[in-house]
Amino acid sequence: MTTIYNFSAGPAMMPKAVLEQAQQELLNWQGLGTSVMEVSHRGKPFMALVEQAKQDFRQLYAIPDNYKILFLQGGARGQFAAIPMNLIGEKGKALYLTSGHWSATAAKEARNFCEIDEINILAENAPLQTTSLDFTEIAEQYDYVHYCPNETISGVEIFDLPKVGNAVLVADMSSNILSREIDINHFGMIYAGAQKNLGPAGITIVIVREDLLNKARQDTPSIWHYATQVKSDSMINTPPTFAWYLCSLVFKHLLAHGGVKGAEARNRAKAALLYRYLDDSNFYQNHVAPQNRSLMNVTFTTGNDELNAKFVEEATACGLQALKGHKVLGGMRASIYNAMPIEGVEALIAFMEKFARENAK
Ligand code: PMP
Repeated sequence: MTTIYNFSAGPAMMPKAVLEQAQQELLNWQGLGTSVMEVSHRGKPFMALVEQAKQDFRQLYAIPDNYKILFLQGGARGQFAAIPMNLIGEKGKALYLTSGHWSATAAKEARNFCEIDEINILAENAPLQTTSLDFTEIAEQYDYVHYCPNETISGVEIFDLPKVGNAVLVADMSSNILSREIDINHFGMIYAGAQKNLGPAGITIVIVREDLLNKARQDTPSIWHYATQVKSDSMINTPPTFAWYLCSLVFKHLLAHGGVKGAEARNRAKAALLYRYLDDSNFYQNHVAPQNRSLMNVTFTTGNDELNAKFVEEATACGLQALKGHKVLGGMRASIYNAMPIEGVEALIAFMEKFARENAK
């Protein structure tokens, strides 16, 4: 059978070793004679899993004690609404930096709950690149400043931190969480849907600084209320226990493979290989400026819709799956999250070379 490499943007591939462990433990978790998804979330064995998962995640990112870690539901989109409900305080206003689809969608949702200002941080002309990220002068007028460091659809990643003085910086890291080292102390809050780098869909991680926990508006539903969720161990309602379990295995797997530092080195090597090939090719184009090229989502096109469709079809037949770009952008997108081995990128490049040879005019 052909080796399958899955370039899906999310739900994305999981580490093979994690799936194998889950398979092995499926019918008899921890000798209980039952699967992890059939035990009480409030029982000792599951509570121990949760505590360990939290500790492992804290270790992976060196998260200081004054930050709480929540495992919620509702995806990153749920957080688009939960953030203004929880973080708007006496200033009554937030600043949204927009750099593509997801940051703009977050801003649009926030408008339903509070007043916001929006600043487009993408330069006017192609190639895609960010402009100045210095907001020191204005940031403190706002309860928080929101941005998305990795735009999954266009493949634009923001490596420099926006400068916001003492304002609260909030980041949607759905598609680059645990992909490279960051200093948590710069952030007031970080959130991410699990389905790219953390585990399967159905769970959303939130890292929030303690001092931000008492600002929620009165009518915030309890499932979205951060302080309430902290008090109830992220279990105000029955949590997605199986997804949580799989995330816990992913954390252990990452810790055993050099932590975030190790993942970053592998991610940089994979991305460098693919971008180098794209730069050397006169058949494919990538439209992102080098300083903003995502390590996670690599977008490219032949510049011809028919050829793009042919590329995706033939790649799929060769075991290179889910390379079709997002519908708002077209072209191709290779999502190369933590779980994608370098062999997958090498196989993709070999296919791209062959396709270019066969289809060049
Ligand atoms: N933000 C980013 C950066 C994303 O990539 C996605 C999903 N692709 C979302 C938000 C929405 O996530 P969810 O489907 O978990 O709500």
